[in-house]
Amino acid sequence: MIDVVDSWLRLAATRLHDQAAALTALDQAIGDGDHGTNMDRGFSAIVAQIDAGAADGDGDRAMTAARLRGAGRTLISTVGGAAGPLYGTALMRAGGAIAASDGATGAEAALAGLDAAIGGIQALGKAAAGEKTMIDALIPAVEAARAELARGADIKAVTAAMATAAEAGSTATIPLLATKGRASYLGERSIGHQDPGATSAAVLLRALADVVAGA
Ligand code: ADP
Ligand code: MG
Repeated sequence: MIDVVDSWLRLAATRLHDQAAALTALDQAIGDGDHGTNMDRGFSAIVAQIDAGAADGDGDRAMTAARLRGAGRTLISTVGGAAGPLYGTALMRAGGAIAASDGATGAEAALAGLDAAIGGIQALGKAAAGEKTMIDALIPAVEAARAELARGADIKAVTAAMATAAEAGSTATIPLLATKGRASYLGERSIGHQDPGATSAAVLLRALADVVAGA
């Protein structure tokens, strides 16, 4: 599990770096134009942390949990703005879910991690579905994953379903009115633009699916 998580964080960092300008352009339309640079900076710091050494912990799950918690703390400390604390809390909560997932299959652990991540984002940011935030990519992702798992799908199918649903959820933010975060300052003018955080959430989940598919 630790190998998958380390590869995921590395691939996510590469893709966020490559898409930083596009994410920033989305944030220029309805925010302050820093989302791409925020995510790029945070995930490069996570890669530096992985390069610096193995995660602490006794056994695969403990090491995986420690990696996710450490990555979350790194995002909180290196990324200003809303997304750093929100994604940081998400990764820390996902780590907590993995630590408590003894006996779960990989697919069950992935679902539990995403579910816990969303719980953390909502505890901190108080956004519900439909408010034009990262939540609008993540809730469809967890719902799709739960449905796949219920029909006995494996981790490849579960993570692929997460990514596809998150991508659909991110484009479905275009007609929404923002009522949370900076974009809410624009009121009706937020309508017609894709939410940057929902877009980065889809990038993160597609990177996970691609790593799992190749694992
Ligand atoms: P900032 O808005 O502080 O500049 P970023 O640009 O890095 O931070 O991130 C903006 C993204 O954060 C938004 O596109 C949205 O998806 C997400 N976001 C903002 N506020 C919230 C919230 N309360 N709950 C969930 N997500 C939020
Ligand atoms: Mg911003």
